[in-house]
Amino acid sequence: MSDETNRDDNNNEYEHICYICRRPESKTGKMFMLPNNISICVDCMQKTFDSMNNSPMMGIPGMPGVSFSVTDIGNSENDSKTADSGEDGDEKGNDSEKKNKSISNVEFLNLPHLMFGMGDLPQNQRIKKKTRKKDENDIKQAFDITNLMPPHKIKEELDAYVVGQEHAKKVMSVAVYNHYKRVFDENKDGIELEKSNMLMLGPTGSGKTYMVKTLAKLLNVPLAITDATTLTEAGYIGDDVESVLSKLLAAADNDVERAEKGIVFIDEIDKIAKKRNTNSRDVSGESVQQGLLKLLEGAEVEVPVGATSKNAMVPMTTIDTTNILFICGGAFPDLEDIVKQRLLKKAALGFSGELKDKYDKDKKLLAKTTTEDLREYGMIPEFLGRLPVVFALEPLDADMLVKVLNEPKNAILKQYKKLFSMDEVDLVFEEEALHAIAEKAIERDTGARALRAIIEELMLDIMYEIPKDDSIGRVTITRDYIVSNGLPLIENRSNIAVSVDK
Ligand code: ADP
Repeated sequence: MSDETNRDDNNNEYEHICYICRRPESKTGKMFMLPNNISICVDCMQKTFDSMNNSPMMGIPGMPGVSFSVTDIGNSENDSKTADSGEDGDEKGNDSEKKNKSISNVEFLNLPHLMFGMGDLPQNQRIKKKTRKKDENDIKQAFDITNLMPPHKIKEELDAYVVGQEHAKKVMSVAVYNHYKRVFDENKDGIELEKSNMLMLGPTGSGKTYMVKTLAKLLNVPLAITDATTLTEAGYIGDDVESVLSKLLAAADNDVERAEKGIVFIDEIDKIAKKRNTNSRDVSGESVQQGLLKLLEGAEVEVPVGATSKNAMVPMTTIDTTNILFICGGAFPDLEDIVKQRLLKKAALGFSGELKDKYDKDKKLLAKTTTEDLREYGMIPEFLGRLPVVFALEPLDADMLVKVLNEPKNAILKQYKKLFSMDEVDLVFEEEALHAIAEKAIERDTGARALRAIIEELMLDIMYEIPKDDSIGRVTITRDYIVSNGLPLIENRSNIAVSVDK
């Protein structure tokens, strides 16, 4: 395809933004085109003329009694059409110059001269158009009620990447399946399906973010990940809650239709709980929860394009959150204590001592969490009401960590093996060594997150030294190397060849 055709296609997909008020063409109607890709909407043009008409300049000699209105240059609509029709830049410039000449003394509207100086103007004052019909068909093709992935298939795919977390994977697969059924429901029978937004509870490094990322990749939908601690009420320093939608829009390449079917993951959601056991009024966390309500429920929200905060220089667009799947996640430290207390309160008096021991040792207490516990923790009822699917992830034990190292499709050890194989070196990890790594990770108490850091520390020297010596054919990582800083086992190519021959 020639460059020219490409440019034309792009011109159809994108719409102009008013240089002054930043609204897109779909909102303002046809724009006036000025040189250097500057477009101005009728309203702003009229305001500019109004201010010219009212300005003292109108009294200066040479301009007696002249007044401008947009209709005066309505005749130049044709000019602007020519400029819009994708002809090359020079011609555009000439056209607009002609137009400016035909409107006497409107020279000061030539913003480029005034604001930037020629040449360093932003070229793309445009955002992608909402081409409703076309995109709906596109999405339907990729995502059709008849070819929606059923829950067992979703889980199967998750199994290839995520170790353990059987319950979480099952709940998530069903919730996602129902969510997309709801997206495609035309609601002819008047039965409205509720949104299946989710709340994931689980310790750090148990795979919350990883599961959501894997899911989004698998469903081929845009994903935005944000941290609840960075969110603030509108008007305070920080990102207001709507910024999550800007991120989603960016993840969807500014394609509003795609963004409206995407996933938003809000991590560290426990950090916006109301403070407990305090007499002072804590509004910050609670008001962020309040702010999120309308997004979770489904609302049309004005969102800045290409930035996370609204300001005069950023174009805006509207996103409908009705079909966006929101997943919140948090470690909820101390929530287990609340669950324990509730369970103990329920228990018959005489048994409480025994039960306390049992619950103290129970690593899966989070799975017994109820909405009441979360309210007690500081989440407001309206917020919880909009996250109907609540489930917990288990902390990863040593055996699971060994599997995380080894088993997923893109397991970290597989990645290192691949790197070594590019140097034609065979990298081997002894089983014992893997357990030693897992034990080290458990000491750090950050779940599977610690694994990568540990492996990277371990491998640095080896990765540095091995390529120096072409004769090396195999490196074996032993428990000794990990536990007591011994040396890895290094074998030459010739020795390996001999042992294979034997
Ligand atoms: P969380 O969000 O729960 O704090 P992450 O999802 O960020 O934890 O996990 C950190 C990393 O650990 C992930 O990128 C992934 O590589 C690995 N990981 C965590 N849990 C699992 C799991 N269950 N299976 C496979 N890998 C995991």
